[in-house]
Amino acid sequence: MSKFAQLGLSSQLTKAVEKGGYESPTPIQEKVIPLMLQGGDIVAIAQTGTGKTAAFVLPILERLKGNQHKAKPKHCSTLIIVPTRELAKQIDDNIEKYGKHIYHQRACVVGGMKYPKQIQRLNQGLDILVATPGRLEDHLKSGNLSLDHTETLILDEADQMLDLGFFPAIRRIAKRTPRTSQTVLLSATMPKPIRALAAELLNNPKDVAVAPASTPVERIEQAVMLMEKPAKRPFLVQALANQFRTIIFTRTKHGADQLVKYLSKQKVVASAIHGNKSQNQRQRTLEAFRKGEEHILIATDIAARGIDIPDVSLVVNYDVPTTPEAYVHRIGRTARAGREGRAITLCAPEEQKFLRDIERLIKAKLPIENVKAGDIDDDSYDPMKAAAKPPEYASGKPAKNTDRKDDGERRSPKSRRRGDAKKHESTRFEGKKTEPRKSKQGHRGDDASADGQGAPRRKKSGNKNPPRGPARNRNKNQQSSRNSEKSGR
Ligand code: AMP
Repeated sequence: MSKFAQLGLSSQLTKAVEKGGYESPTPIQEKVIPLMLQGGDIVAIAQTGTGKTAAFVLPILERLKGNQHKAKPKHCSTLIIVPTRELAKQIDDNIEKYGKHIYHQRACVVGGMKYPKQIQRLNQGLDILVATPGRLEDHLKSGNLSLDHTETLILDEADQMLDLGFFPAIRRIAKRTPRTSQTVLLSATMPKPIRALAAELLNNPKDVAVAPASTPVERIEQAVMLMEKPAKRPFLVQALANQFRTIIFTRTKHGADQLVKYLSKQKVVASAIHGNKSQNQRQRTLEAFRKGEEHILIATDIAARGIDIPDVSLVVNYDVPTTPEAYVHRIGRTARAGREGRAITLCAPEEQKFLRDIERLIKAKLPIENVKAGDIDDDSYDPMKAAAKPPEYASGKPAKNTDRKDDGERRSPKSRRRGDAKKHESTRFEGKKTEPRKSKQGHRGDDASADGQGAPRRKKSGNKNPPRGPARNRNKNQQSSRNSEKSGR
Protein backbone atom coordinates (compact mmCIF):
# COMPACT_ATOMS: atom_id res chain seq x y z
CA MET A 1 0.00 0.00 0.00
CA SER A 2 1.46 3.35 -1.00
CA LYS A 3 2.07 5.98 1.64
CA PHE A 4 -0.56 8.21 0.06
CA ALA A 5 -3.10 5.37 0.16
CA GLN A 6 -2.41 4.98 3.88
CA LEU A 7 -3.69 8.51 4.35
CA GLY A 8 -7.04 7.45 2.94
CA LEU A 9 -6.63 8.44 -0.70
CA SER A 10 -7.97 6.24 -3.47
CA SER A 11 -6.01 4.80 -6.37
CA GLN A 12 -7.13 7.50 -8.83
CA LEU A 13 -5.38 10.07 -6.69
CA THR A 14 -2.39 8.06 -5.58
CA LYS A 15 -1.69 7.28 -9.23
CA ALA A 16 -1.81 10.96 -10.13
CA VAL A 17 0.54 12.05 -7.36
CA GLU A 18 2.97 9.23 -7.95
CA LYS A 19 2.98 10.01 -11.64
CA GLY A 20 3.82 13.57 -10.64
CA GLY A 21 6.98 12.20 -9.03
CA TYR A 22 5.90 12.37 -5.38
CA GLU A 23 7.20 9.36 -3.53
CA SER A 24 5.76 10.10 -0.14
CA PRO A 25 3.56 12.72 1.46
CA THR A 26 5.15 15.81 2.97
CA PRO A 27 4.62 16.41 6.71
CA ILE A 28 1.82 18.89 6.10
CA GLN A 29 0.10 16.40 3.79
CA GLU A 30 0.43 13.61 6.38
CA LYS A 31 -1.39 15.73 8.91
CA VAL A 32 -3.94 17.64 6.88
CA ILE A 33 -5.18 14.94 4.47
CA PRO A 34 -6.60 12.53 7.10
CA LEU A 35 -8.04 15.39 9.14
CA MET A 36 -9.76 16.88 6.13
CA LEU A 37 -11.18 13.51 5.14
CA GLN A 38 -12.61 13.13 8.67
CA GLY A 39 -14.35 16.50 8.35
CA GLY A 40 -14.04 19.34 10.83
CA ASP A 41 -12.24 22.65 10.65
CA ILE A 42 -8.47 23.04 10.51
CA VAL A 43 -5.99 25.84 11.11
CA ALA A 44 -2.68 24.96 9.51
CA ILE A 45 0.57 26.82 9.82
CA ALA A 46 2.29 25.92 6.62
CA GLN A 47 5.15 27.73 4.98
CA THR A 48 5.31 28.06 1.26
CA GLY A 49 6.94 25.19 -0.55
CA THR A 50 5.85 22.56 1.95
CA GLY A 51 3.35 20.91 -0.36
CA LYS A 52 0.35 22.54 1.27
CA THR A 53 -1.64 22.86 -1.95
CA ALA A 54 -1.81 19.10 -2.40
CA ALA A 55 -2.61 18.80 1.32
CA PHE A 56 -5.98 20.43 0.79
CA VAL A 57 -6.61 19.67 -2.90
CA LEU A 58 -6.25 15.88 -2.60
CA PRO A 59 -8.97 15.44 0.07
CA ILE A 60 -11.27 17.75 -1.88
CA LEU A 61 -10.86 15.56 -4.96
CA GLU A 62 -11.22 12.40 -2.89
CA ARG A 63 -14.64 13.58 -1.75
CA LEU A 64 -15.66 14.32 -5.31
CA LYS A 65 -14.79 10.80 -6.40
CA GLY A 66 -17.96 8.88 -6.95
CA ASN A 67 -20.01 12.00 -6.41
CA GLN A 68 -23.15 11.47 -8.46
CA HIS A 69 -24.60 14.92 -7.88
CA LYS A 70 -24.25 17.33 -10.72
CA ALA A 71 -23.16 20.70 -9.40
CA LYS A 72 -26.10 23.09 -9.01
CA PRO A 73 -26.06 26.04 -11.43
CA LYS A 74 -24.60 29.21 -9.90
CA HIS A 75 -23.31 27.24 -6.91
CA CYS A 76 -20.00 25.71 -5.95
CA SER A 77 -19.48 22.90 -3.48
CA THR A 78 -15.86 23.80 -2.71
CA LEU A 79 -14.53 27.34 -2.61
CA ILE A 80 -10.82 28.11 -2.41
CA ILE A 81 -9.99 31.74 -1.72
CA VAL A 82 -6.47 32.99 -2.36
CA PRO A 83 -4.90 36.45 -2.31
CA THR A 84 -3.48 36.67 -5.82
CA ARG A 85 -4.43 35.82 -9.35
CA GLU A 86 -1.21 33.97 -9.97
CA LEU A 87 -1.72 31.77 -6.95
CA ALA A 88 -5.30 31.08 -8.04
CA LYS A 89 -4.08 29.96 -11.46
CA GLN A 90 -1.39 27.81 -9.89
CA ILE A 91 -3.85 26.07 -7.60
CA ASP A 92 -6.23 25.57 -10.51
CA ASP A 93 -3.39 23.94 -12.46
CA ASN A 94 -2.66 21.68 -9.50
CA ILE A 95 -6.29 20.60 -9.28
CA GLU A 96 -6.21 19.76 -12.97
CA LYS A 97 -3.03 17.72 -12.49
CA TYR A 98 -4.14 15.77 -9.41
CA GLY A 99 -7.75 15.45 -10.57
CA LYS A 100 -7.04 13.96 -13.97
CA HIS A 101 -8.90 10.75 -13.19
CA ILE A 102 -11.72 12.28 -11.21
CA TYR A 103 -14.65 13.89 -12.94
CA HIS A 104 -15.18 17.40 -11.71
CA GLN A 105 -16.27 20.82 -12.85
CA ARG A 106 -14.04 23.66 -11.79
CA ALA A 107 -13.26 27.28 -12.57
CA CYS A 108 -10.76 29.92 -11.65
CA VAL A 109 -12.36 33.32 -11.15
CA VAL A 110 -10.00 36.25 -10.66
CA GLY A 111 -9.81 39.95 -11.38
CA GLY A 112 -8.34 41.30 -14.60
CA MET A 113 -10.29 38.80 -16.72
CA LYS A 114 -13.50 39.37 -18.65
CA TYR A 115 -16.79 38.78 -16.83
CA PRO A 116 -18.96 37.00 -19.45
CA LYS A 117 -16.85 33.85 -19.59
CA GLN A 118 -16.70 33.68 -15.81
CA ILE A 119 -20.45 34.15 -15.53
CA GLN A 120 -20.97 31.38 -18.05
CA ARG A 121 -18.82 29.00 -15.99
CA LEU A 122 -20.59 29.93 -12.76
CA ASN A 123 -23.97 29.38 -14.43
CA GLN A 124 -23.01 25.80 -15.17
CA GLY A 125 -22.39 25.03 -11.49
CA LEU A 126 -19.03 24.03 -10.07
CA ASP A 127 -17.50 21.39 -7.87
CA ILE A 128 -14.46 23.53 -7.19
CA LEU A 129 -14.07 27.26 -7.53
CA VAL A 130 -10.72 28.99 -6.99
CA ALA A 131 -11.12 32.73 -6.61
CA THR A 132 -9.62 35.97 -5.40
CA PRO A 133 -11.76 37.93 -2.91
CA GLY A 134 -12.53 41.06 -4.98
CA ARG A 135 -13.87 39.38 -8.10
CA LEU A 136 -15.63 36.75 -6.02
CA GLU A 137 -17.56 39.42 -4.13
CA ASP A 138 -18.50 41.09 -7.42
CA HIS A 139 -20.09 37.86 -8.58
CA LEU A 140 -21.80 37.27 -5.26
CA LYS A 141 -23.27 40.77 -5.27
CA SER A 142 -24.44 40.42 -8.88
CA GLY A 143 -26.20 37.16 -8.08
CA ASN A 144 -23.96 35.16 -10.41
CA LEU A 145 -23.02 32.85 -7.57
CA SER A 146 -24.47 31.61 -4.32
CA LEU A 147 -22.54 29.91 -1.54
CA ASP A 148 -25.65 28.37 0.04
CA HIS A 149 -24.49 24.86 -0.82
CA THR A 150 -20.77 25.29 -0.29
CA GLU A 151 -19.52 22.41 1.80
CA THR A 152 -15.82 23.21 1.93
CA LEU A 153 -14.15 26.58 2.28
CA ILE A 154 -10.37 26.93 2.00
CA LEU A 155 -8.66 30.17 2.98
CA ASP A 156 -5.13 29.92 1.65
CA GLU A 157 -2.23 32.28 2.42
CA ALA A 158 -4.29 33.96 5.13
CA ASP A 159 -1.40 36.16 6.17
CA GLN A 160 -1.15 37.73 2.78
CA MET A 161 -4.89 38.25 2.69
CA LEU A 162 -4.48 40.09 5.96
CA ASP A 163 -1.65 42.22 4.54
CA LEU A 164 -3.74 43.11 1.53
CA GLY A 165 -6.69 44.17 3.64
CA PHE A 166 -8.93 41.31 2.47
CA PHE A 167 -10.20 40.28 5.90
CA PRO A 168 -13.45 42.28 5.79
CA ALA A 169 -14.22 40.70 2.41
CA ILE A 170 -13.29 37.24 3.74
CA ARG A 171 -15.67 37.71 6.67
CA ARG A 172 -18.50 38.75 4.37
CA ILE A 173 -17.84 35.83 2.02
CA ALA A 174 -17.48 33.22 4.78
CA LYS A 175 -20.76 34.35 6.32
CA ARG A 176 -22.54 33.41 3.12
CA THR A 177 -21.49 29.77 3.47
CA PRO A 178 -23.54 27.34 5.57
CA ARG A 179 -22.49 26.96 9.21
CA THR A 180 -21.91 23.29 8.55
CA SER A 181 -19.29 23.78 5.87
CA GLN A 182 -15.79 22.60 6.59
CA THR A 183 -13.35 25.48 6.76
CA VAL A 184 -9.59 25.15 6.45
CA LEU A 185 -7.37 28.15 7.02
CA LEU A 186 -3.72 28.00 5.96
CA SER A 187 -1.08 30.55 6.71
CA ALA A 188 2.69 30.71 6.78
CA THR A 189 2.60 32.80 9.93
CA MET A 190 -0.04 33.14 12.59
CA PRO A 191 -0.23 36.70 13.90
CA LYS A 192 -3.05 37.67 16.28
CA PRO A 193 -5.52 38.95 13.66
CA ILE A 194 -5.40 35.58 11.89
CA ARG A 195 -6.00 33.74 15.15
CA ALA A 196 -8.93 36.07 15.75
CA LEU A 197 -10.35 35.42 12.30
CA ALA A 198 -10.00 31.67 12.80
CA ALA A 199 -11.78 31.91 16.17
CA GLU A 200 -14.58 33.88 14.53
CA LEU A 201 -15.13 31.78 11.42
CA LEU A 202 -14.03 28.27 12.31
CA ASN A 203 -15.72 25.72 14.54
CA ASN A 204 -13.51 24.13 17.10
CA PRO A 205 -10.63 23.86 14.61
CA LYS A 206 -7.81 21.37 14.90
CA ASP A 207 -4.41 23.03 14.88
CA VAL A 208 -1.79 21.69 12.57
CA ALA A 209 1.68 23.10 12.80
CA VAL A 210 4.30 21.31 10.89
CA ALA A 211 7.77 21.89 12.19
CA PRO A 212 9.92 19.78 9.92
CA ALA A 213 13.57 19.38 10.81
CA SER A 214 14.43 21.64 7.95
CA THR A 215 11.98 24.35 7.04
CA PRO A 216 12.53 26.13 3.74
CA VAL A 217 13.80 29.18 5.58
CA GLU A 218 16.50 27.13 7.23
CA ARG A 219 17.63 25.61 3.97
CA ILE A 220 18.24 29.01 2.41
CA GLU A 221 21.64 30.64 2.55
CA GLN A 222 20.84 34.15 3.57
CA ALA A 223 22.91 37.31 3.55
CA VAL A 224 22.40 41.00 3.99
CA MET A 225 24.58 43.29 1.88
CA LEU A 226 24.82 46.65 3.57
CA MET A 227 25.35 49.49 1.09
CA GLU A 228 24.26 52.99 0.25
CA LYS A 229 21.17 53.13 -1.92
CA PRO A 230 22.92 54.24 -5.15
CA ALA A 231 25.22 51.24 -4.88
CA LYS A 232 22.36 48.78 -5.15
CA ARG A 233 21.95 48.84 -8.93
CA PRO A 234 25.57 48.19 -9.90
CA PHE A 235 25.79 45.56 -7.19
CA LEU A 236 22.73 43.85 -8.58
CA VAL A 237 24.16 43.68 -12.09
CA GLN A 238 27.19 41.84 -10.76
CA ALA A 239 25.11 39.60 -8.54
CA LEU A 240 23.07 38.52 -11.54
CA ALA A 241 26.01 37.34 -13.58
CA ASN A 242 25.98 33.56 -13.98
CA GLN A 243 22.78 33.14 -12.06
CA PHE A 244 20.06 30.88 -13.25
CA ARG A 245 16.47 31.78 -12.28
CA THR A 246 16.46 34.78 -10.03
CA ILE A 247 13.53 36.66 -8.54
CA ILE A 248 14.18 40.24 -7.49
CA PHE A 249 11.70 41.85 -5.14
CA THR A 250 11.07 45.56 -5.07
CA ARG A 251 8.81 47.43 -2.69
CA THR A 252 6.95 49.40 -5.35
CA LYS A 253 5.60 48.84 -8.85
CA HIS A 254 7.45 51.92 -10.04
CA GLY A 255 10.65 50.56 -8.52
CA ALA A 256 10.17 47.29 -10.40
CA ASP A 257 9.69 49.09 -13.73
CA GLN A 258 12.68 51.33 -13.14
CA LEU A 259 14.84 48.33 -12.42
CA VAL A 260 13.74 46.57 -15.62
CA LYS A 261 14.79 49.69 -17.55
CA TYR A 262 18.11 49.97 -15.78
CA LEU A 263 18.95 46.31 -16.27
CA SER A 264 17.98 46.51 -19.92
CA LYS A 265 20.52 49.33 -20.34
CA GLN A 266 23.08 47.00 -18.81
CA LYS A 267 22.06 44.31 -21.35
CA VAL A 268 20.38 42.22 -18.70
CA VAL A 269 17.00 40.90 -19.78
CA ALA A 270 14.37 41.00 -17.06
CA SER A 271 10.60 41.41 -16.86
CA ALA A 272 8.39 42.65 -14.09
CA ILE A 273 5.09 41.48 -12.67
CA HIS A 274 3.04 43.77 -10.49
CA GLY A 275 -0.43 45.12 -9.98
CA ASN A 276 -0.26 47.67 -12.81
CA LYS A 277 0.34 45.00 -15.43
CA SER A 278 -2.65 43.38 -17.09
CA GLN A 279 -3.47 39.86 -16.02
CA ASN A 280 -2.41 38.55 -19.41
CA GLN A 281 0.93 40.35 -19.20
CA ARG A 282 1.48 38.96 -15.71
CA GLN A 283 0.64 35.47 -16.85
CA ARG A 284 2.84 35.70 -19.94
CA THR A 285 5.82 36.96 -17.93
CA LEU A 286 5.37 34.27 -15.34
CA GLU A 287 5.11 31.55 -17.97
CA ALA A 288 8.26 32.76 -19.74
CA PHE A 289 10.05 32.64 -16.40
CA ARG A 290 8.61 29.26 -15.48
CA LYS A 291 9.62 27.77 -18.83
CA GLY A 292 13.12 29.19 -18.53
CA GLU A 293 12.75 31.52 -21.53
CA GLU A 294 13.64 34.38 -19.19
CA HIS A 295 15.85 34.02 -16.17
CA ILE A 296 15.16 37.17 -14.21
CA LEU A 297 11.81 38.12 -12.78
CA ILE A 298 11.25 41.37 -10.94
CA ALA A 299 8.22 41.34 -8.71
CA THR A 300 6.39 43.17 -6.01
CA ASP A 301 5.28 41.19 -2.98
CA ILE A 302 1.70 41.04 -4.06
CA ALA A 303 2.29 39.58 -7.48
CA ALA A 304 4.69 36.87 -6.43
CA ARG A 305 3.24 35.48 -3.21
CA GLY A 306 2.67 31.76 -3.24
CA ILE A 307 4.17 31.34 -6.69
CA ASP A 308 5.77 27.97 -7.11
CA ILE A 309 8.60 27.86 -9.63
CA PRO A 310 11.11 25.12 -9.18
CA ASP A 311 14.81 25.86 -9.38
CA VAL A 312 14.78 29.51 -8.44
CA SER A 313 18.37 29.63 -7.29
CA LEU A 314 18.48 33.18 -6.00
CA VAL A 315 16.08 35.64 -4.45
CA VAL A 316 17.23 39.23 -4.20
CA ASN A 317 15.47 41.63 -1.90
CA TYR A 318 16.30 44.82 -3.71
CA ASP A 319 14.45 46.66 -0.96
CA VAL A 320 14.31 45.32 2.56
CA PRO A 321 10.73 44.23 3.17
CA THR A 322 9.03 46.39 5.75
CA THR A 323 7.10 43.50 7.25
CA PRO A 324 9.02 40.45 8.44
CA GLU A 325 6.38 38.08 7.06
CA ALA A 326 7.03 39.45 3.57
CA TYR A 327 10.68 38.48 4.00
CA VAL A 328 9.72 34.87 4.73
CA HIS A 329 7.41 34.78 1.72
CA ARG A 330 9.96 36.35 -0.59
CA ILE A 331 12.83 34.07 0.25
CA GLY A 332 10.44 31.13 0.20
CA ARG A 333 10.41 31.45 -3.60
CA THR A 334 13.70 29.60 -3.56
CA ALA A 335 14.58 26.30 -1.84
CA ARG A 336 11.22 24.83 -2.78
CA ALA A 337 10.22 21.20 -2.38
CA GLY A 338 13.31 20.25 -0.41
CA ARG A 339 15.82 22.06 -2.62
CA GLU A 340 18.34 24.61 -1.45
CA GLY A 341 18.61 28.22 -2.43
CA ARG A 342 20.12 31.61 -1.69
CA ALA A 343 18.64 34.91 -0.70
CA ILE A 344 20.44 38.21 -0.53
CA THR A 345 18.99 41.38 0.85
CA LEU A 346 20.35 44.73 -0.31
CA CYS A 347 20.05 46.98 2.67
CA ALA A 348 20.62 50.73 2.77
CA PRO A 349 21.48 52.12 6.20
CA GLU A 350 18.02 53.63 6.57
CA GLU A 351 16.48 50.20 6.02
CA GLN A 352 18.41 48.48 8.79
CA LYS A 353 15.61 49.00 11.26
CA PHE A 354 13.50 46.40 9.44
CA LEU A 355 16.13 43.70 9.83
CA ARG A 356 15.53 43.34 13.54
CA ASP A 357 11.91 42.28 13.13
CA ILE A 358 12.90 39.85 10.41
CA GLU A 359 15.50 38.23 12.65
CA ARG A 360 12.98 37.96 15.44
CA LEU A 361 10.50 36.22 13.16
CA ILE A 362 12.95 33.76 11.63
CA LYS A 363 14.65 33.25 15.01
CA ALA A 364 18.08 33.67 13.49
CA LYS A 365 20.60 36.41 12.96
CA LEU A 366 21.35 37.36 9.41
CA PRO A 367 24.97 37.61 8.33
CA ILE A 368 25.78 41.15 7.28
CA GLU A 369 28.38 42.18 4.73
CA ASN A 370 29.45 45.77 4.22
CA VAL A 371 29.67 46.64 0.56
CA LYS A 372 31.55 49.79 -0.31
CA ALA A 373 31.26 51.65 -3.57
CA GLY A 374 34.83 50.67 -4.43
CA ASP A 375 34.00 46.99 -4.13
CA ILE A 376 31.43 47.27 -6.86
CA ASP A 377 33.69 49.19 -9.23
CA ASP A 378 36.17 46.38 -9.17
CA ASP A 379 35.71 44.24 -12.26
CA SER A 380 36.87 41.15 -10.45
CA TYR A 381 34.28 41.51 -7.73
CA ASP A 382 31.77 38.73 -8.10
CA PRO A 383 29.29 38.67 -5.25
CA MET A 384 27.73 35.39 -6.27
CA LYS A 385 31.04 33.66 -6.64
CA ALA A 386 31.77 34.84 -3.17
CA ALA A 387 28.42 33.45 -2.12
CA ALA A 388 29.49 29.94 -3.02
CA LYS A 389 28.72 27.47 -0.30
CA PRO A 390 31.29 27.46 2.45
CA PRO A 391 32.92 24.02 2.78
CA GLU A 392 31.23 23.16 6.07
CA TYR A 393 27.83 23.84 4.55
CA ALA A 394 28.53 21.78 1.47
CA SER A 395 29.62 18.88 3.63
CA GLY A 396 26.35 19.03 5.50
CA LYS A 397 27.96 20.01 8.78
CA PRO A 398 26.29 22.80 10.69
CA ALA A 399 27.71 26.27 10.10
CA LYS A 400 30.29 27.28 12.65
CA ASN A 401 29.34 29.67 15.37
CA THR A 402 29.87 33.15 14.19
CA ASP A 403 30.04 36.24 16.24
CA ARG A 404 29.15 39.67 15.19
CA LYS A 405 31.99 42.10 14.61
CA ASP A 406 31.89 45.59 15.93
CA ASP A 407 31.08 46.87 12.45
CA GLY A 408 27.96 44.77 12.24
CA GLU A 409 29.50 41.99 10.15
CA ARG A 410 29.53 38.40 11.30
CA ARG A 411 32.26 35.90 10.76
CA SER A 412 33.69 32.89 12.45
CA PRO A 413 36.07 33.38 15.36
CA LYS A 414 38.61 31.22 13.53
CA SER A 415 38.80 33.34 10.40
CA ARG A 416 38.91 36.46 12.52
CA ARG A 417 41.96 35.20 14.34
CA ARG A 418 43.67 34.31 11.13
CA GLY A 419 43.18 37.61 9.36
CA ASP A 420 43.84 35.78 6.14
CA ALA A 421 42.68 37.77 3.16
CA LYS A 422 42.28 34.71 0.94
CA LYS A 423 40.21 33.00 3.51
CA HIS A 424 37.96 36.02 3.74
CA GLU A 425 37.36 35.95 0.06
CA SER A 426 36.20 32.38 0.07
CA THR A 427 34.07 32.89 3.13
CA ARG A 428 32.55 36.16 2.18
CA PHE A 429 29.15 34.67 2.68
CA GLU A 430 30.22 32.48 5.52
CA GLY A 431 27.34 31.36 7.64
CA LYS A 432 24.82 32.36 5.03
CA LYS A 433 22.87 29.29 5.85
CA THR A 434 21.40 30.77 8.97
CA GLU A 435 21.45 28.58 11.97
CA PRO A 436 17.99 28.04 13.38
CA ARG A 437 19.21 29.18 16.72
CA LYS A 438 17.47 31.50 19.09
CA SER A 439 18.46 35.14 18.81
CA LYS A 440 20.61 36.21 21.68
CA GLN A 441 19.44 38.87 24.07
CA GLY A 442 21.77 41.50 22.70
CA HIS A 443 20.53 42.10 19.19
CA ARG A 444 22.38 43.84 16.46
CA GLY A 445 19.73 46.55 16.72
CA ASP A 446 21.02 47.30 20.21
CA ASP A 447 24.41 48.43 19.00
CA ALA A 448 25.39 51.61 17.23
CA SER A 449 25.52 49.93 13.85
CA ALA A 450 21.79 49.49 13.75
CA ASP A 451 20.74 53.03 14.45
CA GLY A 452 20.07 53.81 10.83
CA GLN A 453 22.64 56.56 10.84
CA GLY A 454 24.79 55.21 8.06
CA ALA A 455 26.96 52.22 7.45
CA PRO A 456 28.71 51.09 10.60
CA ARG A 457 32.39 51.86 10.67
CA ARG A 458 35.20 49.43 11.25
CA LYS A 459 37.02 50.10 14.48
CA LYS A 460 40.43 51.55 13.85
CA SER A 461 42.17 49.60 16.54
CA GLY A 462 41.74 46.05 17.60
CA ASN A 463 40.85 44.79 14.14
CA LYS A 464 43.80 43.57 12.23
CA ASN A 465 41.87 42.16 9.37
CA PRO A 466 42.04 43.73 5.96
CA PRO A 467 38.71 44.83 4.55
CA ARG A 468 36.91 42.02 2.85
CA GLY A 469 36.25 41.92 -0.88
CA PRO A 470 38.40 43.43 -3.60
CA ALA A 471 38.73 46.59 -1.59
CA ARG A 472 41.34 44.82 0.45
CA ASN A 473 43.75 44.99 -2.47
CA ARG A 474 43.63 48.70 -2.78
CA ASN A 475 45.45 51.18 -0.74
CA LYS A 476 43.47 53.70 1.20
CA ASN A 477 44.20 56.61 -1.10
CA GLN A 478 42.90 54.85 -4.13
CA GLN A 479 39.82 53.90 -2.26
CA SER A 480 38.98 57.33 -0.94
CA SER A 481 39.61 59.09 -4.24
CA ARG A 482 37.33 56.65 -6.00
CA ASN A 483 34.63 57.13 -3.40
CA SER A 484 34.74 60.88 -3.58
CA GLU A 485 34.60 60.66 -7.34
CA LYS A 486 31.47 58.55 -7.02
CA SER A 487 29.73 60.80 -4.58
CA GLY A 488 30.46 63.78 -6.77
CA ARG A 489 28.59 62.31 -9.70
P1 AMP B 1 3.25 24.13 -2.40
O1 AMP B 1 3.74 24.33 -0.99
O2 AMP B 1 1.88 23.56 -2.43
O3 AMP B 1 3.38 25.38 -3.23
O4 AMP B 1 4.18 23.01 -3.08
C1 AMP B 1 5.53 23.21 -3.30
C2 AMP B 1 6.10 22.21 -4.26
O5 AMP B 1 6.14 20.91 -3.66
C3 AMP B 1 5.33 22.05 -5.54
O6 AMP B 1 6.24 22.13 -6.63
C4 AMP B 1 4.74 20.65 -5.49
O7 AMP B 1 4.66 20.07 -6.77
C5 AMP B 1 5.74 19.92 -4.61
N1 AMP B 1 5.14 18.81 -3.83
C6 AMP B 1 3.95 18.76 -3.26
N2 AMP B 1 3.75 17.60 -2.63
C7 AMP B 1 4.90 16.88 -2.78
C8 AMP B 1 5.33 15.57 -2.36
N3 AMP B 1 4.56 14.79 -1.62
N4 AMP B 1 6.55 15.17 -2.71
C9 AMP B 1 7.35 15.96 -3.45
N5 AMP B 1 7.00 17.22 -3.88
C10 AMP B 1 5.79 17.67 -3.56
